[in-house]
Amino acid sequence: MKRLLLVGGGHAQLAVLRALARQGPRGVETVLLTPSPWQWYSGMLPGWMAGHYRAEDCRIDLRPLAAAAGARLCLASAIALDAARRIVHDDAGASHDFDLLSLDVGSLTDTRALDALPAGTLLPVKPLEAFFAAWPQRLAAARAGQLRRLVVVGGGAAGVELVLAAAEAFHRAGGKVALALVAAPGGLLAGHAEGVRRRVARRLAQAGIALHIARARGTPTGLELVDGAEHTASALPADCVIAATGARALPWLQTSGLACDAEGWVVVDAGHRSRSHPAIHAAGDACTRDAPGFARSGVHAVHAGPVLAANLLAALADATPAPPQRYQPRPRSLYLIACGPRHAIASWGPWSAEGRWVWHWKDRIDRGFIARHRRPPARAV
Ligand SMILES: Cc1cc2nc3c(=O)[nH]c(=O)nc-3n(C[C@H](O)[C@H](O)[C@H](O)COP(=O)(O)OP(=O)(O)OC[C@H]3O[C@@H](n4cnc5c(N)ncnc54)[C@H](O)[C@@H]3O)c2cc1C
Repeated sequence: MKRLLLVGGGHAQLAVLRALARQGPRGVETVLLTPSPWQWYSGMLPGWMAGHYRAEDCRIDLRPLAAAAGARLCLASAIALDAARRIVHDDAGASHDFDLLSLDVGSLTDTRALDALPAGTLLPVKPLEAFFAAWPQRLAAARAGQLRRLVVVGGGAAGVELVLAAAEAFHRAGGKVALALVAAPGGLLAGHAEGVRRRVARRLAQAGIALHIARARGTPTGLELVDGAEHTASALPADCVIAATGARALPWLQTSGLACDAEGWVVVDAGHRSRSHPAIHAAGDACTRDAPGFARSGVHAVHAGPVLAANLLAALADATPAPPQRYQPRPRSLYLIACGPRHAIASWGPWSAEGRWVWHWKDRIDRGFIARHRRPPARAV
């Protein structure tokens, strides 16, 4: 009996569960170790904040998928991995040994520059489940006049979406909240075309959101903006600081013995196998690839999923030495950036567009993704 351990119920792992449900080999004991029965979908989080979705619209129930895949669901978080001994320890005190391991544990928000903020001020966007739980309290505080200044730190697409969603949420709730977005120099939508930046700057201005190009730093007395050129710091008052400051690897990956890069991401080959331990596969934010076009985004996690699944199934069936399937990231990906009200900006290489129709396009894709994973597939005969 082989033991297949799936750690994390992330985007790529959904494809693994579906493949196991369709054509998983007999004689395999499968465990899915993940902290929640829900897989929360980041693509719909800004729409939920802005009031377009209910929380239950934005999550996938992993229980029916795990059941269809014949996987025992273990609701706990991995806290250590010994890659050489093939064992994972979880925060409930259990240990899980494995013959084959698939990691799709995502990432944490990199809050290192902000951790010194006064208690209760910082709200990292990840883990998503914690954000989904915390945001309604901030909205209630705004309604009650107890939250007057909110700052989002992070000039990537996530930071832009979050600040525009917050503006829409406060507008609907009738709370008067001053909003600001802080982007590092060169960091406002880095990697997107100039036209996208112009469109976003216009939407920010229309929503009354102040844009600061500076590095943000948390101190025990509050948020500071550091001007890199002049080495001066100025205070930016905030009752709540949402951190969308990029991704940080889960710390136990780096101490696992797996080959990781300097930032702790698991180094994998084009088949999403660990470069150091071929019985361990990884996909999504947790891994890193030396491939043009590779980025830490849901798009790549989703697209790597079928390749991850095929290679795990081949390894379970001992179908060697068949060459493993490879995931080749496309040189450019489509990003649909939600802008608060039902309006979105499309960004694809040098091309951009915006409007209500872009929002409906995004809405259809996002709802379709959730709907697809709500129905476990039937077993192939
Ligand atoms: C606001 C926002 C909007 C975004 N919008 C987009 C978008 O529109 N398009 C896009 O491509 N990307 C988007 N992203 C990026 C996207 O969220 C990530 O790149 C994507 O979620 C990565 O998928 P993943 O499968 O690696 O991880 P996740 O989807 O985060 O899944 C990780 C899984 O692992 C579980 N887990 C976590 N820790 C442990 C542990 N210790 N042990 C066991 N299980 C664990 C989690 O519960 C979860 O089930 C957005 C990000 C944010 C913050």
